[in-house]
Amino acid sequence: MDIQYEVLIIGSGPGGMTAAIYASRAGLNTAILESSAPGGKLVKTHLVENYPSYDSITGVDLAMKMHTHSLAFGANYLYGDVVKVDKIEGGFIVHSATGETFTSKVVISATGTVERQLGLTNEDKLLGKGVSYCAVCDGAFYRDEHVVVIGGGNSALEESIYLTQFAKKVTIVMRRDVFRADKAAQDNVKRNPKIEILQHYIPKQFLLDELGKVSGIKIQHTNTNETIDLEAKAVFPYIGADPASSYLSHLGITDEEGFVLVNQEMETGIPGLYAIGDMNSKTLRQIVTATGDGSIAAQNAFKFLHS
Ligand code: NAP
Repeated sequence: MDIQYEVLIIGSGPGGMTAAIYASRAGLNTAILESSAPGGKLVKTHLVENYPSYDSITGVDLAMKMHTHSLAFGANYLYGDVVKVDKIEGGFIVHSATGETFTSKVVISATGTVERQLGLTNEDKLLGKGVSYCAVCDGAFYRDEHVVVIGGGNSALEESIYLTQFAKKVTIVMRRDVFRADKAAQDNVKRNPKIEILQHYIPKQFLLDELGKVSGIKIQHTNTNETIDLEAKAVFPYIGADPASSYLSHLGITDEEGFVLVNQEMETGIPGLYAIGDMNSKTLRQIVTATGDGSIAAQNAFKFLHS
């Protein structure tokens, strides 16, 4: 079988786009395969304040700058929702949901994570009716309203600050009294007069109005079991994320939670298959760590192809 590409990168978040810059700049026939808009989680992020050279830049602006850069050395940009990657002689075959296939000598997986759901009744059906996992996309719909954010990590706190531009009040509901977010985000939240923090509460049930839209959320105290009905027009769960790695699950390269196991060269257990960014088993999930992973994987792909 003719192999189409030397390097096929699945996913165009910061890691995938960096891998594309390095691989195509090294002269490799490179393609990026993406199922959505370029940028990954960046396009759902309001402000980025910890990416060197920009003291503050919107996620969308950074994503677009990276996207333009990622194509500057000749990488191809393809559309496809990948459902499976298989090893074939001389490389890999990548299957998309539409049945289309792509072949490449090297594959770099960079598909990140998907937002975790609360698991409450009707959560799926309420998407667009008051449940949202993307403050940047939907926050403006809730101007002068009260909204609730669930979670105590960086995403919950940073997106709560973003929501205060529109909402009259933002209530953060946390199940513990310990934040996972860094201190800078905690300080920003604590000094914002529009934000209230309720600790030791877990979400129990969405409350609905007569039109079937969210009118609030019932939360329960973790110690006393007392419940409160919080009136709110929208609920934004930011409770972490799971790896988007199901298309690799048959290859035996993921841990029990689905995160990909790689060595420090971003190599999986299968020669020629690399994984980078948030989908990997790692301790620090950041834009800079994803871009670092992307450069390492592309450099090693070059060595692999020329060895
Ligand atoms: P996270 O750091 O894992 O935080 C998840 C939060 O949701 C925690 O407060 C957790 O509580 C809570 N939670 C989990 N399951 C819950 C449930 N069923 N009900 C109620 N609360 C629940 O997730 P994240 O904020 O999405 O961040 C993901 C990764 O991206 C992290 O590594 C983070 O550092 C990184 N990130 C970094 C930045 C930045 O540096 N600017 C921005 C965004 C994300 P417990 O603590 O009790 O488990």
